[in-house]
Amino acid sequence: MAASSAPIPLTAPDLSGKECRYVAEAVAARQLAGDGGFTKRCHAWLERETGAAKALLTHSCTAALEMAALLLDIMPGDEVIMPSYTFVSTANAFVLRGGVPVFVDIRRDTLNLDERLIEAAITPRTRAIAVVHYAGIACEMDAIMAAAARHGLAVVEDAAQGLLATYRGQALGSIGALGALSFHETKNVVSGEGGALLVNDASLAHRAEIVREKGTDRSRFLRGETDKYTWQDIGSSFLPSEIVAAFLLAQLEEARAITERRLRLWRMYDELLAPLEASGALSRPGVPAECTPNGHIYYVMLASDRDRQAVIDHLAAAGVRSAFHYVPLHNSPAGQRFGRAVGDLPVTAEASRQLLRLPLHAGLAETDLARIAALLREALD
Ligand SMILES: *Cc1c(COP(=O)(O)O)cnc(C)c1O
Repeated sequence: MAASSAPIPLTAPDLSGKECRYVAEAVAARQLAGDGGFTKRCHAWLERETGAAKALLTHSCTAALEMAALLLDIMPGDEVIMPSYTFVSTANAFVLRGGVPVFVDIRRDTLNLDERLIEAAITPRTRAIAVVHYAGIACEMDAIMAAAARHGLAVVEDAAQGLLATYRGQALGSIGALGALSFHETKNVVSGEGGALLVNDASLAHRAEIVREKGTDRSRFLRGETDKYTWQDIGSSFLPSEIVAAFLLAQLEEARAITERRLRLWRMYDELLAPLEASGALSRPGVPAECTPNGHIYYVMLASDRDRQAVIDHLAAAGVRSAFHYVPLHNSPAGQRFGRAVGDLPVTAEASRQLLRLPLHAGLAETDLARIAALLREALD
């Protein structure tokens, strides 16, 4: 292929052009700490677009997950059912409270927590189910919420990859008691580092503000609801500065357009790669009818006899970055120390060996995708 083409990265932020102006406005207003005007506008946007009872900006999705573990009063020995095929923060947030991750396998079509394995993983110590919507495609939330309700468990959605994706029309992150979003540079909508906690169980909203503000009722004080603020509960500093919120607002205002651009590319990959699925060289992501994706990641699962590294190398030689994804948590050093697996997790092992992520960002043209598909054909023929 044309070796002269510019290198293609795996991810790249899709800037709206308003980011620097909003940051300059925050600086000019001399209000740089958290919870000023830009933060409020981000909260309003998130509440409106997701339907969450309350949205709170955080430093990261990791921080939002840590807040979730605090709000659910996870105690030493409490078990949280979750996939092993996920980012470390899903587990770490609960382990920091002494919780025990109980890892179950994922579905072959979506690579999300296999809802049919939940019941068998429940013990008298189970407190919560933490689901991850991989690549912005939803878990089977009806079955998961029903299992949680039957056993009195809380559901936390790690919706780091899920902004503006839906399940039966409901925004990801707005379905469980709590949802965590990420605005990390590699996600669809970014603020460098950043995140938000969506509080859907309104009974947790008041305490969520306190936990986020160093364990104080400063949020109520700032609203004029109390004449001083005091130490009320355990907590930490989870709120980002106005500089970050200003940048994020520019991105949120563009979020629908960003998502549309990504979805267009996602669908184009899906069409271009259909013949390779038909020939048995790979399989494409499954999108259940209940799910509207957000074009976060385009991945393929290579047939088990394929050498993934050879494919990555072939693309790299043409300047195209591709990548594998998670190293499973259950057999990682910390996963073995702090958690346990239910059964063998064969689909997790397969995804960790055979999954390949392809470049997906607004910088890509139709011709780039055609070139990437041609490179894959060459590598897999
Ligand atoms: C990106 C990601 C995180 C972490 O997000 P940060 O904002 O970097 O803390 C957590 N879980 C999943 C599934 C992610 O993709």
